[in-house]
Amino acid sequence: MKRRVMFLPGPATTTETVKNAQVVPDISPREKEVECIIDEIRRDFVRIVHGGDNYVAVPFCGSGTLAMDVCLNSLVGSSGKALILENGAYSRRAVGICDCYGIPFIRLRFPYDVPIDLEAVENMLKEHPDIEVVYAAHQETVTGILNPIKTISSIAHKYNAIGCFDTLSTYAVMPIDVEKDNIDFCMGASHKGIMAMTGLSWVVGKKSIIEKLENYPRRSFYSNLYMLYLNLRDHGKMKFTPPTQCVYSIKQALAEYWEEGEENKWNRHKRVNDVLLNGIKEMGFRCFTDEKLLSGVVLSVECPNDRNWDYSKIHDYCDARGFELWPTTFLSGKSFRLASFGAIDTEDAVNFLKVFRTALDETGVAVPIRYEN
Ligand SMILES: *Cc1c(COP(=O)(O)O)cnc(C)c1O
Repeated sequence: MKRRVMFLPGPATTTETVKNAQVVPDISPREKEVECIIDEIRRDFVRIVHGGDNYVAVPFCGSGTLAMDVCLNSLVGSSGKALILENGAYSRRAVGICDCYGIPFIRLRFPYDVPIDLEAVENMLKEHPDIEVVYAAHQETVTGILNPIKTISSIAHKYNAIGCFDTLSTYAVMPIDVEKDNIDFCMGASHKGIMAMTGLSWVVGKKSIIEKLENYPRRSFYSNLYMLYLNLRDHGKMKFTPPTQCVYSIKQALAEYWEEGEENKWNRHKRVNDVLLNGIKEMGFRCFTDEKLLSGVVLSVECPNDRNWDYSKIHDYCDARGFELWPTTFLSGKSFRLASFGAIDTEDAVNFLKVFRTALDETGVAVPIRYEN
């Protein structure tokens, strides 16, 4: 199979072995074999974030946004509120979910180029004792900004609220320790950090909190956390049909995850990111986010003002040579992202930079890159 290198923030580049693992004879998802694999991967989902027996993984069929949806629609009681800390496009999506379900929430907005202001969070909790859930994105995947979820969680606990974090772009990418960091809920998806196929997402959360949700409002039939959990607890099965072939790819991806190791994997993503960052800086490109705030896994590169710059031409040139880019339009500027997720290493980044540079030359974009101010 032709290998393509995805500089996307998910779906990530997968290995040949993970791709092939999903080709299996047709099988009922209710067969013991599939149920055993689901049991096993659920335990791994907790282990990846260093959770003990007091944590449980609840998987469901869907992309990462469903994990956000499950948490938000299930964790807020009828007299409580969610506090959504918004400093980017993904936390803004959480606002959209609350709006859609009519969940009572407070939106605390920050500029998109800085991490969350902790003092403002604490003041909000002081003023509103009915806040039950404090929600933030760990990494805002558009800007590459990392938010201090450990501190946010401890502030939440001080005011009897729970800390719920969108870790979709950091889970199995960088080390996360839910026990040490006192994280109540976090999230993962198969096409992101674990480098498998799209199809399964999950919430890892404190069992004791989920057990208490029984009488909370059921705002969704398909994606209520308590209902999904109950089926797993009492019947050992996912409530609805799992994406069986995807589950096989996950099993293989997890075997490769443990083989590579948490620290090695994180170091690999970081070194790919460093090569990309140095390469684009050498060409004179600017990143949207201050370098000191970057997570080390996503770059949001500002498009130049050169009149020959044509993103789609650059994209198509790279695409034809096996490299996938991801455009983003946010705030006032145009940018494109280079994410170093997935089964890639520095050699891929070096090869990409060569192709990218040729694309600039062939389309007549001046290097060093020009920005008007
Ligand atoms: C990828 C991602 C999501 C979910 O996106 P899907 O397209 O639904 O998989 C949510 N939050 C963050 C921070 C992400 O990076």
